[in-house]
Amino acid sequence: MADTILTTSVAEAVAILASGGLVALPTETVYGLGARADDSRALARIFEAKGRPADNPLIAHVASIEQVGDVVLSIAPYARDLMERFWPGPLTLVLPVREDMPSQLTAGLQTVGVRMPDHALTRAVIKALGVPVAAPSANRSGRPSPTTWEAVREDLEGRIDAILQAGPTTVGLESTVVDCTGDVPVILRPGAITLADLQSVHPEARQRRPDEAAHRSPGLRHRHYRPDAEVRWVGPFDTDTSGTGEAAPDPTEAKHAASASYIGLHDPPDPLRYVRIEIAPSLAAYARSLFHFFRLSEADGVRSIHCERVPCEGLGQALTDRIDRASGSE
Ligand code: AMP
Ligand code: MG
Repeated sequence: MADTILTTSVAEAVAILASGGLVALPTETVYGLGARADDSRALARIFEAKGRPADNPLIAHVASIEQVGDVVLSIAPYARDLMERFWPGPLTLVLPVREDMPSQLTAGLQTVGVRMPDHALTRAVIKALGVPVAAPSANRSGRPSPTTWEAVREDLEGRIDAILQAGPTTVGLESTVVDCTGDVPVILRPGAITLADLQSVHPEARQRRPDEAAHRSPGLRHRHYRPDAEVRWVGPFDTDTSGTGEAAPDPTEAKHAASASYIGLHDPPDPLRYVRIEIAPSLAAYARSLFHFFRLSEADGVRSIHCERVPCEGLGQALTDRIDRASGSE
């Protein structure tokens, strides 16, 4: 394929998508790799460009609630309430798919994930195209999701038609995915819209049970988010400053001391051992920085990325999920 076009033009992005091309698009979560949702050949190219397993479904992005009807058969009343409360925003709703949709969109499932991104440029693209845009994250399969257009280029240069350039993403983690095909909303993948957020609209919203995961959210089965370095948990370091517990240097690791990086909310007890340190001022900043920090650490050539453990609740649950999976512990 020819070089990937870098553009800031909505009209150019729309023209490429309209003719069946692939365009990486900014959203508030991560950059997505877009193709028109009604074009099976364009969708097949997404899987090819990413090296994505064929059983991992895409998310259909819409510019209005009315457009949801272009891809889904029906919307439960509580799902409509969630759309009205949280869209545009980092919330994907899984709904029954229309029979005329290409099978690549859903990876052969009877359901489809739909979301309205909170990014004016990308909503303008979808609106002008007049068709929902299918987009998974715009990284090579298994790699950390891209939070900058440069990260998209790093993974997909020459494999996609264009990148719509905008600033870094503000949330930094992929959307919360919620199954809306049953009686109550069920979280399949945690994200920045938390269980408490959903319960404020629908008190019976719940987490998936572990045995429901693989069946209902196929993407959870796959290797994900891994940089070219080991990722491991450390800390937490907020309880005292004595440097006890996991803060103590591990002698078996001393030989790697010059090739580790650290990201967390607090200073690590042994800062001199790290070639790169990022102290995030909040959980939201930690989430926003995580995947970019992975890529910066890769570029430094570090062997081991140390992530400070956070409480597994609210946004901390999404952060814990991504770091668990990047570290291979789930
Ligand atoms: P990505 O945008 O790369 O995170 O990929 C989209 C993710 O959305 C998938 O890996 C699934 O976790 C989720 N998803 C999309 N469609 C469905 C669906 N029909 N049922 C369950 N999960 C879905
Ligand atoms: Mg992805």
